[in-house]
Formats: sequence, structure tokens, C-alpha cells
Amino acid sequence: MIRRTVRGTDLGSSLPPAIVPAASSDIDLHCHSLASDGTLAPGDVIAAAAAAGVRTLALTDHDTLAGLPSAAAAASRRGIRLISGVELSCRWEQRTVHVVGLGFDGGNEALQRGLAELQATRRARATRIAQKLEALGVADALERVQREATDGQITRQHFARLLIEDGLCRDTQRAFKRFLGRTGRAYVAAAWAPLPEVVAWIHGAGGCAALAHPFAYRLSASALGRLIGAFRDADGDALEVCCGTSRPANVAHAAELARRHGLLGSVGSDFHDPAQPWRQLGRLTPLPPSITPVWTRFGIPRDPR
Ligand code: AMP
Ligand code: MN
Ligand code: MN
Ligand code: MN
Repeated sequence: MIRRTVRGTDLGSSLPPAIVPAASSDIDLHCHSLASDGTLAPGDVIAAAAAAGVRTLALTDHDTLAGLPSAAAAASRRGIRLISGVELSCRWEQRTVHVVGLGFDGGNEALQRGLAELQATRRARATRIAQKLEALGVADALERVQREATDGQITRQHFARLLIEDGLCRDTQRAFKRFLGRTGRAYVAAAWAPLPEVVAWIHGAGGCAALAHPFAYRLSASALGRLIGAFRDADGDALEVCCGTSRPANVAHAAELARRHGLLGSVGSDFHDPAQPWRQLGRLTPLPPSITPVWTRFGIPRDPR
């Protein structure tokens, strides 16, 4: 039976779907490490990818490239082809959407300035979320998330872990629903850079931009069409057609949207944590044959093996 028991408030791609994708892919272009809200060090993400049979990987932490050097070192030891990656937060029509940058030059100055701006926005938002949570009785929220994130980016996942630790919420979904999501009591809207600007940073650094997890924004069909149109108008390159949480019907729908808007296709599990079976490295439905893969832009054949 296909059933979703819990609805998220926004960016709910981390909700467990009813079906864990049965297929596996040797290419995975979306995952996270301790540099943002993943639970594994970058080198351990590479090891886990290798163990899962992934041969081509992009580590795409939220608004940071900090994990890439150690990921690259581990990838060369394990024979994994690593594509530079990042998941950038951006603003579109008062909402947050995520754009995955791939295959860019991480030394590009304009991109680095952009990342510094997003990181400052993250810090300012974290301070305000912490103030709201402290007013709701969560002690030392800012210091504790800072300690938890060490030198990585502070994300709402870190706040969710605090709420669970303090017994205010039973799980991540409830933490987002009650506190951190768009209708939650400690929600703070972040002034991310606008979508076209973020795409331009990636292009300026020689990379490709993929609109991440199109169904995670819970938009109506017309709003989703507007978002993808705006992304295309901003010169965006690809749509993430296959996500860790995609069911076959989602893949077919996303493929149709990519085709209609003239976008390439990308695939990414959005792996964060080995304990989340619904988004594991390489657990992805294959890209439909009608879609040109974004990785062909990097000279990698459609079927790299
Ligand atoms: P941030 O970029 O700091 O706003 O945090 C985004 C992270 O929170 C992403 O990794 C999402 O997977 C996660 N997230 C967003 N909304 C939800 C939700 N409703 N339930 C669980 N996780 C969520
Ligand atoms: Mn995340
Ligand atoms: Mn995302
Ligand atoms: Mn992600």
C-alpha cells in the first residue's frame, strides 16, 4: 500500500516515503556530510558510497565547500570520481528553494563571496531561531547547536536534534512541524540570495545548476511550473529528476517537467545519515532514457560504468 503518514511543512524531502527505491545507481550527485547536516565525515561518505557501489559522486553540503578537500583525498584513494558539489539555499517568491551546483571551480572568487553571504545569512538566522527557542524554554540553544555543528554550517536539523534531546519533540518531523517549519513557533524566514543570482554564481565558476528535489517544496502544479520556468529563465541547466524519496510516478512526472522546460536531468539521493533508509547513497531509480543526464556536460558518458 502506498501511504504517506506525515506531511512536512517545507522542504520535506527528508520525510520517509512509503517506498524505498529498489534500484541502485552508480552515480549519485546529492549528499551531505558533517560540513553541514549529515552525520558522517566527508571521507566516511566516500567510503559509504564506495561500499554502496557508487562510482561517481558529488558531495553537496548546504552552502559550503568545506568538505570537498577531504572528500577528494578519500575519493582518489577509493577510485571514486568526485564532481565538485554544493547545495545552495536561495529565495524564490518568498520561499526557500535549493539549487545543486555541480562541476564548478571551487576557487572562483564570486562563488566564494556568494557562499560567504549565504553563510552569514545562516548564522544570523541561527541566532534568531535560538532566541525564539530560548524564549520557549530551550536552554543555551545557540551555544549547543554551535557545539554540535563544530565548524560546519548550522542547519535546522541541528535545532531539531536539540528539541529531541530536550524531550520537546519525539522526532525530526514533529520538530519541524511544531517549531522549525514554515508554520512552526520558532520559524525564521531567511533572506537568501535570489534564485537567478545563485545560478549565476555557479555558472560564473564554470559549473551546472540543478534545481533540487522539485516535489519537496509542496507547490501546486501551477506554482511548480512557475518555479521551473523561473529557474529556466535564470539559465538553470538541470532538474533533479530522481531523488532518494522519488517513487516511480514522481520520476515520470519530473522527467516530463524536465522535457517540457528543456532541462537536463540529475540524480541524487540526498543522503544525510546511514540511519535513514529512505535516502541511502546510490539508492535511486535510473534516469529515464528520454532525459539527457547533466553529467554528460562533464564528459562523462550516460552510463559511466
Ligand atoms: P536549513 O537548510 O537549515 O533550512 O535546513 C534544511 C534541512 O532541514 C534539510 O536538510 C531538510 O532535509 C530538513 N528539513 C526541512 N524541512 C523538513 C521537514 N519538514 N521535516 C524534516 N526535515 C526537514
Ligand atoms: Mn540537509
Ligand atoms: Mn534540499
Ligand atoms: Mn540536500
